[in-house]
Amino acid sequence: MIATLKRAAGAVAMATLLGLTVSACTQSTQSMVPAHDNLNATLWMQQSVEFQGTARAAYALAALRLEQALADRTWTAVPEEQGSDYAARPPAIIVDLDETVLDNSRYQAWLTLNGQTFSQESWARFCHARISTPVAGSVEFLRQAEGRGVKVFYISNRTADLEESTRANMARFGYPLGGNVDTFLMARERPDWGSAKSTRRAHVARDYRVLLNIGDNFGDFTDAYRGSAADRQKVMDANAARIGRQWIFLANPSYGSWESAPFGHDFKKQADEQRAAKRAALDAWDGK
Ligand SMILES: [Mg+2]
Repeated sequence: MIATLKRAAGAVAMATLLGLTVSACTQSTQSMVPAHDNLNATLWMQQSVEFQGTARAAYALAALRLEQALADRTWTAVPEEQGSDYAARPPAIIVDLDETVLDNSRYQAWLTLNGQTFSQESWARFCHARISTPVAGSVEFLRQAEGRGVKVFYISNRTADLEESTRANMARFGYPLGGNVDTFLMARERPDWGSAKSTRRAHVARDYRVLLNIGDNFGDFTDAYRGSAADRQKVMDANAARIGRQWIFLANPSYGSWESAPFGHDFKKQADEQRAAKRAALDAWDGK
């Protein structure tokens, strides 16, 4: 509040210097709209048909690749975890949840309108509210996969205490829930299931041939996601042949390891420090 008043006073002084009327200046400060780093990304994900278009395209591609993968017994999306002798195993796919299957833009919108940043406390409250909605195309694709005899596993960094609410939220939309197999592999559900997902991929790959891996964050595909932008680019280049085949990406301009790479994934840094690092990472025209 004090900072706002100081800004307003500064604007009045500046307007006087420039010979503007104080009333015009007062009008502009009264209509000052709070800024938030996530406004455009959240608006795009929540309101744009363009986001629906990209999500539906990703799932349409996944449907094509699913048929290819079913027909080719050598096909696997997780060669590092799959081992050998997997050709005869029953088929499965691995899918991330947040911003891959579940649209949490209402949480992002709440953060944006209330000047907040992510916290475990508000995130848990949001998950327990069970108001996430489907990412466009996800319900149809996952039901289609299930209909083709493919087991759908969800590897999510929602923690184990959020599993019941997550299942209830998803049941409303008709997502495959696994029947008598636990297909919800949540973070820290077992001691070796950390936020890096390879141990959970290995858990699925032991009993199934994994056809596809679908996610919005590099960490959904590889544990080598927490490096610098250059490190991440190297890993991406090494896996280029998998992109759009075994690995399908959804767009998430709101958050992810791409966003924390400029500030070294150090969330203890203050918001200003994080923003300064992101600005410094931009490759900009010199304006000439
Ligand atoms: Mg995600």
